[in-house]
Amino acid sequence: LFITFEGGEGAGKTSVLQAIGERLNNRSDILFTREPGGIEIAEKIRSIILDPAHTAMHERTEALLYAAARSQHFYQKVIPALESGQHVLCDRFIDSSLAYQGYARGIGVDDVLAINEFAIGKRMPDVTIFFDITPEKGLARIQATRADEINRLDAEGLAFHHKVYEGYEYVMERYPERFRVVNADQALEQVIEDVWMILNPILG
Ligand code: C5P
Ligand code: MG
Repeated sequence: LFITFEGGEGAGKTSVLQAIGERLNNRSDILFTREPGGIEIAEKIRSIILDPAHTAMHERTEALLYAAARSQHFYQKVIPALESGQHVLCDRFIDSSLAYQGYARGIGVDDVLAINEFAIGKRMPDVTIFFDITPEKGLARIQATRADEINRLDAEGLAFHHKVYEGYEYVMERYPERFRVVNADQALEQVIEDVWMILNPILG
């Protein structure tokens, strides 16, 4: 199965995946990866996109770079793993682009979907876990734990992060069959437990 983890800033995706990884560390049939990045070429593209000096980057350039990073990561890492029979658990995937670039930046979800279908074909995740938390609370967590990142996120403005949240709501309505929602506004241990209750039965 191809399982993706989505949500706004400070939702806890990375921390929860790390904890799940520790629980599953003897399972050679599960691959953990992340976007944007996950492999050298894509990590380089990530550093171009997220470089705070690149204030002039146009939103369409940004959307194309995310799609380019996704394409390389998908064909070089995700697809070979799935074909070899592994489950792939990925921190962010196409829904991040639909919510951030398509909806929140205002490019349009359909246009961003189109460039992503060019990038990866029509293969979508089998299951997507959405980490549900308000932008205010998510950003407060980042403020507390990753103060170095807060300037970049604050620069977008709270309204942007609310649009990202709305973008995810829109995407979940569009693909209800693959989404599971987890209440991310709980103690980390509880979020880990809730995600585990979803994953454990489907990973077998
Ligand atoms: O999930 P992670 O924190 O690694 O993502 C890095 C940053 O990339 C996020 O803070 C988010 O602002 C940005 N991002 C984005 N559009 C995407 C994916 C990530 O703006 N499609
Ligand atoms: Mg993260």
